Order: sequence, then C-alpha cells, then structure tokens
Amino acid sequence: MRRVIEIRALPDGRYRIHYFVFDPEGPCELPTGMVKTNQGSSVRVGGSIPTPEGIVATRGYIACEPERKSVLPDGRRGTIRLCLRSDDPRAVSCPSCKETAEYKAAMADLETLRTARNIPTGA
Ligand SMILES: [Zn+2]
Repeated sequence: MRRVIEIRALPDGRYRIHYFVFDPEGPCELPTGMVKTNQGSSVRVGGSIPTPEGIVATRGYIACEPERKSVLPDGRRGTIRLCLRSDDPRAVSCPSCKETAEYKAAMADLETLRTARNIPTGA
C-alpha cells in the first residue's frame, strides 16, 4: 500500500515546528510509555515533564493553535499528517508560534538563565 507522510513546511523549505506548551488544562494529550508505530514495532516515548508539584504533565497545546485537539499523527486514506512540535522554544520554527506570548515568555526565561550563568550566545 502506498503511504504518504505529509509535513507542513515553511516557504524556505524548513520544517514547521510548533511550540508545545505544557498545560494540565490543554486539549492535547501526549502519548507516554510504549506506543505502537505504523511499522508494527513499539517505541518508548516520554512526552511528559514533572511539574514542581510532582505531577507528570501530559497535556498541553500548540501555541499558535490553542484549540487544536490533537498533536498525534493523523492518518486518512493513506496520508499521514504529522504535527511537528517542541517544548524547547529554541527548536521552534513556526512564525505564528513565535508571535505568541507563550513563546516570547519562554525565550525571555531562557535569556534570563543564559545571562545569570554567563553563557555565551554562540553567535
Ligand atoms: Zn505554530
């Protein structure tokens, strides 16, 4: 069977990587533990971070699409659509996510850490 994997790209050809915001009230639930792949094997995925309260966060939302219900691969009629995402703002390439308050706050937090530890930017 022919299978197509669809990934949204930016005009410059880079993959569009959204900013994933962990939020216990978020509409998207991340897979954790052993997850079956389309090839039949299973992989262990993390998909969660412990909160300061010790709770494992497995929910959240895409910064530029907060109403989106799922970030899991969506397969229909042989086409699998991927939602590439990261909770590390430095990996984000989506211009819409970069305009959100969540992304800007996360980058500001990173800059505060970098300055406090006197870490060079690498630029
Ligand atoms: Zn986005």
